[in-house]
Amino acid sequence: MPRPGELTLVPARRGKPPRHLADLDVPDRRQAVAELGEKPFRADQLSRHYFARYVSDPREMTDVPASVRDALATEMLPTLATPVRHLETDGGDTRKTLWRLFDGALVESVLMRYRGDRPRVTLCVSSQAGCGMNCPFCATGQQGLTRNMSAAEIVEQVVVAERMLSRGEVAGGPGRVTNVVFMGMGEPLANYRAVLTAVHRLVEPAPAGLGIGRRGVTVSTVGLVPAIDKLAAEGLGVTLALSLHAPDDELRDELVPINTRWKVGEALDAAYRYYQTTGRRVSIEYALIRDINDHAWRGDLLGRLLNQRGRGWVHVNPIPLNPTPGSKWTASRPEAQAAFVAALEERGIPVTIRDTRGSDIDGACGQLATVGD
Ligand code: SAH
Repeated sequence: MPRPGELTLVPARRGKPPRHLADLDVPDRRQAVAELGEKPFRADQLSRHYFARYVSDPREMTDVPASVRDALATEMLPTLATPVRHLETDGGDTRKTLWRLFDGALVESVLMRYRGDRPRVTLCVSSQAGCGMNCPFCATGQQGLTRNMSAAEIVEQVVVAERMLSRGEVAGGPGRVTNVVFMGMGEPLANYRAVLTAVHRLVEPAPAGLGIGRRGVTVSTVGLVPAIDKLAAEGLGVTLALSLHAPDDELRDELVPINTRWKVGEALDAAYRYYQTTGRRVSIEYALIRDINDHAWRGDLLGRLLNQRGRGWVHVNPIPLNPTPGSKWTASRPEAQAAFVAALEERGIPVTIRDTRGSDIDGACGQLATVGD
């Protein structure tokens, strides 16, 4: 376990997961298949099975000759993650999956189905096993960083969710993943390369990738400023979420230890630049912690800092604190939460309280931890 405030940007363990089709772009897939002595078009067949039918079982690939199916699947579609268990709540509309990776590392993803007039399915994915950012109110942060995930390991979480949805195995009948949020375990921008490749695979249309709408993809970060600028320059059109949690450096140094490297002002400037470059409205995440950061004056200060940079570029997502093991902190009182929201709204900032979906199965924000599983 990390010491308080200790940051881990580079994992100690670097065991590499097996290479998978989803790690490669289309030309590299063809080349990889050719290197296996097969016709390059087989790569396109495999891609369609994986990204359009969500199939990696060679027995289901009847258009590939039986004699080469197994070899191709072993090389190009190796098993990356095995589901250990699924936990469900909300009548099956929220479903958390625990995965074991090739080396025994454990990660989780959470599927959330929303019904009603704006039906959607959001998958919250992990990008690292554990996390090195050490935020004291987050269960993942307390377990430390095990390793980075590969692009294909990240994508596999989405493909398996698509498979379950397409086969009608999720409550509510057949469906598709409409949103992917990098809000599971890990700091996505500390695993930049793999996350970027994964985003490409998510948004590219089949058979290159899954064809999920760019606007449906959100990358959440503690505020790694150079990586935010890099992401903006990629021209991807995905949404950025910044985990701020305090508008003042004194408190944020404690709540989000990366603040000792990049201050509130620098993180907000980077978020604003992201908006300017991409035109995508940025989300500010703010876990409301009773008597720690939920004062109306902090809401007001946050509103002022956001307005100093511009109007209409940002909205705030307060998150009622979800309980985590060993934490002395709890969620704000309803009156305090209301006053915090009102302070922001008085400054014209749009505010949406995030729901606490999955908190009863430890599947809500900040509750994903695989120590002791
Ligand atoms: N490392 C990235 C991705 C994780 S997203 C990031 O920090 O942005 C998970 C979100 O849930 C982050 O905003 C995180 O700060 C927040 N969170 C962590 N622990 C929480 C808790 N106990 N209750 C509510 N939100 C929490």
